[in-house]
This record gives sequence, C-alpha cells and structure tokens, in this order.
Amino acid sequence: MSEKESKYDVIILGAGIGGLICGTFLAKSGKKVLIIEQHYLPGGYCTAFKRKGFTFDAAVHHIGGCGTWSIVGRCFKELGIEIEFLQLDPMDSLNFPTFSIDVPANLDDYIDLLKTNFVSESNTISAFFKEFVGLYRSTVRSKANELLMKYKDLTYKEMLDMFFTDERLKMVLSAQWGYIGSPPHEASAIGMCQMLVNYLKDGAFYPIGSTQNFADAITQKFIDYGGQIMLSSKVDRIWAKDKLVKGVITDRGKEYRADIFVSNIDPGQAFFKLFDNQKIDESYLHKIRAMKESVSFFLLYLGIDNEIDLKGLKRGFYHTSKDLSFSDNGWFYISVPTRSDATLAPNGKQIITVVVSLKERFDEIEDFDSFREKMTKYTMNYLKTLVPNIQNHIDVVETGTPKTLKRYTLNSQGAAYGWAVTVDQTWSNRLLHTTPFKNLFLAGHWTNPGPGICAVVSSGWRVANMILNN
Ligand SMILES: Cc1cc2nc3c(=O)[nH]c(=O)nc-3n(C[C@H](O)[C@H](O)[C@H](O)COP(=O)(O)OP(=O)(O)OC[C@H]3O[C@@H](n4cnc5c(N)ncnc54)[C@H](O)[C@@H]3O)c2cc1C
Repeated sequence: MSEKESKYDVIILGAGIGGLICGTFLAKSGKKVLIIEQHYLPGGYCTAFKRKGFTFDAAVHHIGGCGTWSIVGRCFKELGIEIEFLQLDPMDSLNFPTFSIDVPANLDDYIDLLKTNFVSESNTISAFFKEFVGLYRSTVRSKANELLMKYKDLTYKEMLDMFFTDERLKMVLSAQWGYIGSPPHEASAIGMCQMLVNYLKDGAFYPIGSTQNFADAITQKFIDYGGQIMLSSKVDRIWAKDKLVKGVITDRGKEYRADIFVSNIDPGQAFFKLFDNQKIDESYLHKIRAMKESVSFFLLYLGIDNEIDLKGLKRGFYHTSKDLSFSDNGWFYISVPTRSDATLAPNGKQIITVVVSLKERFDEIEDFDSFREKMTKYTMNYLKTLVPNIQNHIDVVETGTPKTLKRYTLNSQGAAYGWAVTVDQTWSNRLLHTTPFKNLFLAGHWTNPGPGICAVVSSGWRVANMILNN
C-alpha cells in the first residue's frame, strides 16, 4: 500500500465482501478510506488457497445475483468492476436417498419441472412462487408492507405448510437450507426467501479463476478509486469519546483516526473485546449477548488426479436422512469446481470440495485434532459411496474445521453466516446498520439483510449510501 496517513474520512474494520463493497462505493465518491484486515488476503470467507498447483476456494462455492436482474450485477456495473462469471446450469442438484432433482438455472423452468413431478400440487406451486418472489421484492424495497407483516414471524416450514401437503415437495423446496444454515422449522421464511429467490431467479455464478478473483477485483477497484488497504493488520482496540468512535489501534500499536467507522467484523468481538473501557448502551450489549451464532462446518478439499472420471458426481446437496419429514439431519454439499473451470488444477487434474453439516457446536468440540480425523473419515466414507476408489486418486488432502474458519475470519464459533437466520434474528430483529455510536455502522452478514455474498454486497452498498446521504 501507499504511504499511510493517520486520519481518514472513513475506516473500515475487516475486508470481507461487505467491507470491501462499502469501501469501494465510498472511495468512488471521493472519501478518503482505509480498510484494515487481519488476514493476508482480502475477501473474508470469499478467499482461495493454493496447494501443489491446485486452487481451492476456502469457503464460498458460488455467488447468487450476478446477472443483470440482481444485486451483484447492478453493484458491479455501478462500480465499473469487470469480472468474468460462469453461470452454473443446473443451478444445483438436490439428492435424497431415494430420489434426486436438478434445479434448472431459470425459475420458470424449475416451476415447470416441479409441476411435472408434483402434479397434484401444480396450481399451488405457481401461487407459492408468486408469493415467494413478491416477498423477496418487498424485502428489497425495505419498507414494511402487508406481505412482510404476514411472514415476519413465520418459519420457512410454516410458510410451506400454508401452501402444500406433499411432504416430498416440501422436502425439495427445503433442500437448500444449508445455504443459510438453519433447518426449515427454525429458518425465517423471509431469510430463506432472501437467499433462495436470488439463486432461483437469477442463477448461481462462479468467478473464473476462483472466488478469490471476486474479492481481488473489488479490492483492485477500491485501490483504483484511491482507497488504502492494510492486510495482515488486526484491529486490537477501538476507542471512543462522547458517543463517537475516535480511532482504532492495530496489533502493531499504531493508531488511525477517522470521522466515520464501519465494522465488517463479528459484533461480539467488536463490542465485547475491542472497545476500551467504553460505556456502551447496556440494552444494546444485552441484545448482542442474547443472539445466537449460525452453524459452522467441516470442510474437505481434495486434489484429484486425471485418471478418474468425475462426470457422474453432481454439484449440490446430498441429504442423508431417509425419512421425508422436516429434520435437521445431516447433509453434504459436494462440488467439482474444475468441471466448470479447468484452470483451477494442473494437467487435467480435478478438485472435489465437500462442506459437511455439523451437529456439534464449536463449544462442544473438545479436541479439534480428533474431531478433524473423525470427520475426514466420515466424509471420505460417504464420498466412496458416490465415487468408488476415490481414495486411490487423491494428490492433495486439506481439511478445515470450525476452528479454521474462526482463525481466518475471527467470526466467533467459526459461524458461517453471522447470526443464525431464525425468525427472532432476521429482518427487523437482526442488528441494524446503526449502533449506539453515531459514527459507527455495521456491514456484513451479522447485520441486514443477512448471510451470503449477494446479501453482504447489498449490506455494504446500503451502509455506503447511509454515510454518503448523511
Ligand atoms: C464454508 C462456507 C461456505 C459458504 N458458501 C457460500 C456460497 O457458496 N455462496 C455464498 O454466497 N455464501 C457462502 N457462504 C457465506 C458467505 O461466505 C458469508 O456470509 C460472507 O462471505 C460474509 O461476508 P462478510 O462481509 O460479512 O465478512 P467475512 O467474510 O466474515 O469477513 C470479515 C473480515 O473481517 C476480518 N476481521 C475480523 N476481525 C478483525 C480485526 N479485529 N481486525 C481486522 N480484520 C478483522 C476477517 O479477517 C475477515 O476478512 C459460505 C460460508 C462458509 C463458511
């Protein structure tokens, strides 16, 4: 980075996608912005790492809303960010022990497919999606209306029960709950809708060259607009006076001041660990204390040789539960990114990544080494049922536990999605962008609208607008 200054218009804590987008809009508008990031790479969960010529996406697999219809596409156009995406078609494959369905990249095609498979619910399927898309549009308008009021206290299961009786259909429409981390009987109907409509309406996209390219493209644009970013620099303290944040101090003991601050980091860390002897509104602290983090995951990254054919291995969710009732039984999310983007591996070699749902929460894992070993075995055993002999074709194995996710992002409990997307923690119940400090804002998956790249892009953009319109 260029010469650092000690006073900025805006300082952003964390270079997750929410922080990067917010900073880029502000820098484009002529603000002097500094982003401080503890990791040596920008992007938070949207980063990648290399091993023996393989490029592995650390967490994010694909991104919703990158077409012209939706938020990321419009945001990148506005910021002048150019990056090549591959549209993934089918959008996903939903696999159950006794049947599977491939979700087309176009919502109308998906509706037709569901109608063919669930003829007795045909009319209700149309009515459901009309309401679901309408609900999504209401959330974008952000003013409360009748639809929002109707669903704000309902779980996704309750919403499905209002429309359908066929348990198999409800299972299909719930199969992607892993993208927000709360099973249908806990997930907020609004939260599920915010995530799913983007994927179903606009498709899922993969940034060519890895998800790191997505984060790097935003970072480069931020720098082009005059923004400054410090990597490998952790904010250790935040200090405030008279209800205004004045400055932050990094782990190297250097202080940086600004008029405005944006926190893209876990609010638990920000408000309970970093504030230095500040009196913070007790009701606000109480609210944070009462909130529950989302789930975390086990991750398996495999570099595979070029002597085995992975064409039959579909990208998507593999549910292990045999009974078709709503349950939070286990699932695996499997992808073979080299099938869409061969540049990720050398000499025609291939990559498999697996995200595994966990029953244990972070605090319940006593020994992370034996947990890693147990989960690797469990995941490999499942993979062998889909690809026999896969164990004989592995060039590279890497794993990640909730502790790994925590280490790279400082998200407490290794939370994949910020706060759990339950009814009591979504929409007006999630933390607002504003805080008890007039010049401190929140952007990212701990605040509205919620988790996922599309949502945090929207979050960062909204906060930039709030600052610029102030
Ligand atoms: C395994 C997994 C798979 C996922 N898959 C997808 C997917 O396919 N598609 C999708 O859309 N979403 C996916 N998500 C969710 C998505 O990745 C997140 O919701 C989103 O990336 C969160 O972005 P954020 O801006 O809130 O910040 P984060 O990504 O949480 O980044 C916060 C940043 O702040 C930095 N930081 C923290 N504390 C400090 C400090 N004290 N000083 C300086 N810097 C600090 C961290 O290092 C980090 O870079 C996935 C998540 C996980 C874990």
